[in-house]
Amino acid sequence: MQSFRLNINLRPRSSNGIYFNGEKNKIAFGSCADCLFSKKMNMRIVLTLGLFFVWGCVAGQSFDLIIKNGRIIDGTGNSWYYGDVGVTGGKIAFIGRIDQAQGTRIIDAQRLLVAPGFIDVHAHIEGGELTSPTANNFIHDGVTSVVTGNCGGSNLNLEAYFQQLDSIKTSINVASLIGHNTVRRAAMGDAQRDPTLEEQQKMEGLVESAMKAGAVGFSTGLIYVPGTYAKTPEVVSLARVAARYNGVYASHIRNEGDNVTEAVSEAINIGREAKIPVEISHFKVTYKPNWGRSTETIGLVEQARMEGLDVTIDQYPYVASSTTLDTTVPSWVFAGGRDSMKLRINDPTTRMKIKKEMVADLKAKKNKNYSFAQVARYAPDTTLNGKNISEINRLKGRKSKPIEEAETILEMVGAVNRTQMVYFSMDEQDLVRILQYPFNMIASDAGIVRFGSGMPHPRAYGTNARVLGRYVKEMKVIRLEEAIRRMTSLPAQKFNLRDRGMLREGMAADVVVFDPALIGDVATYSNPHAYSKGFQYVLVNGQVVVDEGKHTGVRNGQVLRMK
Ligand SMILES: [Zn+2]
Repeated sequence: MQSFRLNINLRPRSSNGIYFNGEKNKIAFGSCADCLFSKKMNMRIVLTLGLFFVWGCVAGQSFDLIIKNGRIIDGTGNSWYYGDVGVTGGKIAFIGRIDQAQGTRIIDAQRLLVAPGFIDVHAHIEGGELTSPTANNFIHDGVTSVVTGNCGGSNLNLEAYFQQLDSIKTSINVASLIGHNTVRRAAMGDAQRDPTLEEQQKMEGLVESAMKAGAVGFSTGLIYVPGTYAKTPEVVSLARVAARYNGVYASHIRNEGDNVTEAVSEAINIGREAKIPVEISHFKVTYKPNWGRSTETIGLVEQARMEGLDVTIDQYPYVASSTTLDTTVPSWVFAGGRDSMKLRINDPTTRMKIKKEMVADLKAKKNKNYSFAQVARYAPDTTLNGKNISEINRLKGRKSKPIEEAETILEMVGAVNRTQMVYFSMDEQDLVRILQYPFNMIASDAGIVRFGSGMPHPRAYGTNARVLGRYVKEMKVIRLEEAIRRMTSLPAQKFNLRDRGMLREGMAADVVVFDPALIGDVATYSNPHAYSKGFQYVLVNGQVVVDEGKHTGVRNGQVLRMK
């Protein structure tokens, strides 16, 4: 067991004040920079002398960079205030008035807002970090840190992945979860059954290795193959392993439509049983018959919190979801892997059975056809990108009937795995109700996108700017400081990123400086490749990554390993 004590440290290059110094459960009182104290003193002396030294030392102190004259939103949800921010050695060294102090670089933030860099706890950057390490779509939306490995899909060997990230160097900081689908596939392929004792132990071992490598938790994608074949106890036992290492359980729940309340309850139960904090990912209710049921699902979260369970949620601010075309096909079709799937869909009797199930499911969701399902990226024929299934079906010369559209889907699913889709299936009233829930954070559910490539969901570019532009400024359904809190200190606290998410002395200098008059998203479903407006400056670990609205190419991100 670890033991803790109150530490009173006089550390160079920080002002007075209480802050987390990056080590768990340790509170440090720092002295101002360049003062010559080096040994521990008792608290009373420190507190007495603290004020004197802060005023004594800031005048004439030099910083690597100073952001002057801005309105500071510190990430706690408290009101903005005027102040200057001094950055040194990648950390925030001082916040307050900096009059005579000098910095190598001074950013004038007059009429601008200064906030902590945004932390996106629901990302899928795997693959994109290799081709586009500057992560422009995130950076231009104010995101300085992401948590990847969500929805059950991550790298299996996180130690190797983190080393790879260390050598690539990305523009954003990266933390990762270990994915259930990833460990299940490694232990037992795509088998549709319970794991044997040996397979269960293998999965637990893989989760444990990932947690030891510094994963921030364990994720599931209970709607996807093979995670969807898992029963709750399997997930509980894996979550228990992550809990031993202070991890979070991040859940893409089993159902976001008709059975959404059961699925939310399952995630909460896993938290209760495994004694692990729960994060319910991309919280929503889908399909018309369920619109309005966010009152029930938020009620379940609130009830769990009253019980003392640490349950929080996250959300992207769009009424269309993005997932694969495979999810329109019954999951049993994919059991055993791609070859087994092909055998099933190429057998005429089975093919007809599948199509009938698909049409029954479509009707149950009160959809007349598949026009709600738009192709984001279809590799074998990119001219279909941006078209919906009903349109594609007509292009093929088929009748506008659900059964014919199901045939079109099966052809596409048979041609290639995991075609990315955009599904228009949500209601804005639910979106706003979820947005207003205090323990909801803002997260994109996106990857790193290469500008101009494919038809991604616009959330990859505009998630944070859309909340600040549409929901704060235009619709006024959430306060500015509160929206910022959901992008910064709330995600940092939940995912144990202890030296980020607030503007405080000693914290990592991840900072966004934006223009409240300009802020807004530009990316749309039909023209998704468009950077958000208004982010003038973005700092990652003290380095300027966006300068006057332009990406500098600087790659100063760090791997955020759970300590
Ligand atoms: Zn997901």
